[in-house]
Amino acid sequence: MTLKGYKQWNYVQVETDDGLTGIGEAHPGAGIAEIILQFKKTLVGADPRNIEPLYHRMIGAASNRYAMGLSAIGGIETALWDLLGKSLGVPVYQLLGGKYRDRIRLYADVGHGKGNTPEGWAQRAREGVADGYQAIKFDIDNSANELKQDAVNRELSTAELQKMTSLVAAAREAAGDGIDISIDCHSLFSTHSAMKLAERLEPFDLMFLEDPVPNDNVEAMAKVSAATSIPICTGEFLFRRDGFRELIQTQACDMLHVDVSGTGGMLEAKKIADLADLYYIPFAAHNITSPIGMTATAHVCAAVRNFIVMELPYHADQVEWRWDLAISSGPLMQDNAFVVPDQPGLGVEINAEVAREHLMPGSDHFGTS
Ligand SMILES: [Mg+2]
Repeated sequence: MTLKGYKQWNYVQVETDDGLTGIGEAHPGAGIAEIILQFKKTLVGADPRNIEPLYHRMIGAASNRYAMGLSAIGGIETALWDLLGKSLGVPVYQLLGGKYRDRIRLYADVGHGKGNTPEGWAQRAREGVADGYQAIKFDIDNSANELKQDAVNRELSTAELQKMTSLVAAAREAAGDGIDISIDCHSLFSTHSAMKLAERLEPFDLMFLEDPVPNDNVEAMAKVSAATSIPICTGEFLFRRDGFRELIQTQACDMLHVDVSGTGGMLEAKKIADLADLYYIPFAAHNITSPIGMTATAHVCAAVRNFIVMELPYHADQVEWRWDLAISSGPLMQDNAFVVPDQPGLGVEINAEVAREHLMPGSDHFGTS
């Protein structure tokens, strides 16, 4: 099932012969729903409790379309955990080893400021703080495009650096000292430009600087990390433990930003976190899913020791019905933290009525109209 959310939100339901069902949310985006259905032949007739073997069976079947295959697998794997939890009467975090915490700290991704001016960034910072968030993240890429000397060469001009610094300074002043501020660069800068930007942003006590350079080159990421005291964070476009192995083992970054729905699912994300914990690297969760996927991510965040913060896609607030989509025994959000459900499985169900109102053209509610 695919809904018209902030992006295309994709959902999976698995069913057993004895009538149990499990739900999961795949990574958002177009084309994922079709891939989910292609995995059906890999799964029908299998014992759904064998989650890790089934995961590897799907990885094998997805080898020619890796990233989108993993986006689909994340939803299916989550649905298998939901199913197993329900069949055993325990929440999924219990099956992942148990929970370290009941509530998941969130950061609000506020995107750009209200206009890329110091006052615009200050205003957005004030709004985030007024809404109760203790941690907010801005996107600094494309915030000074009018000063660019070349559209594609990754270089930051002195004028761009000066403007970007003034934006962050304004946000810090408006937010006050007690608020965590992070900055996302979206992989757009050259190594030396990233180092210059980090140097200028050092006085503002950032929680992390994300993807200052593209994540394809571990040595470049390591060079930026070594040059600054700001924690360098990356990972939302890396897949499975294989994608994180070199980054973690060479300690080329200071913090991971793992997308549970996109990297391969709940158990794979937990394993990535555990690998990072061997190097005392904290685990943050990237997240652009609806509250169903957020709940799955929250179970992982509850069950990893080195968790630090989870993304609340604040700009998805424009999807007014998003919290109505999730049915849970208690509120999922309390005091701007995400409450990990204690009910069996994920502890959350999809409100079919709300879902039907927002179906993508050509999609249906798990085979029913
Ligand atoms: Mg990012």
